Amino acid sequence: MSELHKVVILGSGCAGNTAAIYTARAGLAPVVFEGHEPGGQLSITTEVENFPGFPEGVQGPELIQKMKQQAERFGAIYRPGRLVRAELSQRPFVLEFDDGQQLQARTLIIATGASARWLNLPSEQKLIGHGVSSCATCDGFFFRGKKIMVVGGGDSAMEEANFLSRFGSEVTIVHRSEHFRASKIMLERARKNPKIRFITNTVVEDIYDVEKGYVTGVKLRNVLNHQTWVQDVDGFFVAIGHIPNTKPFAGQLDLDVDGYIVSHGGAKTNIAGVFHAGDVQDRIYRQAVTAAGAGCMAAIEAERFLEAEGH
Ligand code: NAP
Repeated sequence: MSELHKVVILGSGCAGNTAAIYTARAGLAPVVFEGHEPGGQLSITTEVENFPGFPEGVQGPELIQKMKQQAERFGAIYRPGRLVRAELSQRPFVLEFDDGQQLQARTLIIATGASARWLNLPSEQKLIGHGVSSCATCDGFFFRGKKIMVVGGGDSAMEEANFLSRFGSEVTIVHRSEHFRASKIMLERARKNPKIRFITNTVVEDIYDVEKGYVTGVKLRNVLNHQTWVQDVDGFFVAIGHIPNTKPFAGQLDLDVDGYIVSHGGAKTNIAGVFHAGDVQDRIYRQAVTAAGAGCMAAIEAERFLEAEGH
């Protein structure tokens, strides 16, 4: 017989850790599976200046580590592991992880997040946190008076470019075609912004300078005439979408067309006893503090659910 837990939390970012703090304090001994990116997106961020309570700012990894310690103090148990299979049609739910372990859960809090989609250039990956970012709200402030480039042609790219124009001396949007997925209003707003210029039909081939350890420029290629050139930039923002980590739930949970969990009010999903928290459901705000709030909501819902069921 596999272990049975009252609360299993998937994901150890802001949402998962906050859900762990609350359910642990409620005496439910939650088990947190850390997932493929322990600590979530904060663990790859540098300085966080907008999380309340830290007037001097705090390093992302430090903030997440402290949340984990806080949850452990009240009895949360952290384990490595990524969910590969979930059987949600029966209760307790049956969960299977990538190392083969199987367990049962009376409630499940899904805080698996959404991973930023990257271009996957080796130089991009090496310079994340050193001039390459996927979050304008988090990192825009560091590029005051600097040259910024944003890649993407959807609403996120337009929104990020507009936001970044408050800081940067100039913002260049690079898009691989001349057709934009962005809504008309967002596109028009970016077009009217005097600090923003567009380069279309162009792809990013490389980001410099890995040797120096920070961003100095980007190699671009026009896909129509194959001309290549290098443009000087200090900040490089990738805004080509996010991928919610919901694969094991397809066909069981209500997901929208992009794979985000559809909320059934508060932190509820379409399955009683399964709750969502953070970016796995939130495609709009995606902030550490909103994820923390969502983790708290999911924890309270789980606690009430267990109480109502007599556990
Ligand atoms: P999106 O609409 O899927 O757009 C992604 C963009 O990135 C597309 O222009 C796509 O180009 C490009 N792209 C994808 N992979 C690429 C690659 N490997 N290399 C270069 N370019 C690549 O994603 P999103 O902008 O994040 O928006 C997601 C959803 O959130 C949308 O429904 C959007 O409306 C919503 N959203 C709304 C707001 C708002 O209303 N305030 C703000 C942000 C997001 P192609 O078009 O050529 O495929």
